[in-house]
Amino acid sequence: MALKDYNAKRKFDRTAEPEGKAKKNSKNKLIFVIQRHAASSLHYDFRLEMDGVLKSWAIPKGPSLDPQDKRLAMMVEDHPYDYKDFEGTIAEGNYGAGQVEIWDSGTYEPLDDNQLPAEKEMLQQLRDGSLKFILKGKKLKGEFALVKMKNAENNAWLLIKHKDDFSQSPYDAEKHTDPDSLVTRHLKEKKSPKAKKE
Ligand code: MN
Repeated sequence: MALKDYNAKRKFDRTAEPEGKAKKNSKNKLIFVIQRHAASSLHYDFRLEMDGVLKSWAIPKGPSLDPQDKRLAMMVEDHPYDYKDFEGTIAEGNYGAGQVEIWDSGTYEPLDDNQLPAEKEMLQQLRDGSLKFILKGKKLKGEFALVKMKNAENNAWLLIKHKDDFSQSPYDAEKHTDPDSLVTRHLKEKKSPKAKKE
């Protein structure tokens, strides 16, 4: 049921993205992934494994390690667990057409030490509209909060880094990308005069 919106937006004979199917999730640690996505506009997709799917937020400015940045994160439809490995081109005419690459990945756990198992705790926090967790990625590490905005659009959240050993000011996710990656190459091509003629 959770993947109904995801499947409804896509035609799986036309996109290489995985079809949304219910799946048993990670046995041990919960995983997260951040995909850099050059669609109609460049954004980062932040995904947290919960309940067999990837709960997903689109972050226009990308995540930040600077505690002073409050990054708008628009909650979008659940994505299938298998989406954690998706990279490549979504062909023209498809939902989210453009280039996707994995920017960071790793495991995560709830920040608060309490009696609930990690996943149950995260689901409770999601219902409460206030997530607090520790990321163990290659780029993003340490404590973060993801908080639903009050008196705003229903799906608007803010991603905020807590001050800790991993915080950095200033921080720009775009400066922590591979200069020869699929998305970067595509963005450079789009900017070049040759591409503009088409
Ligand atoms: Mn996206």
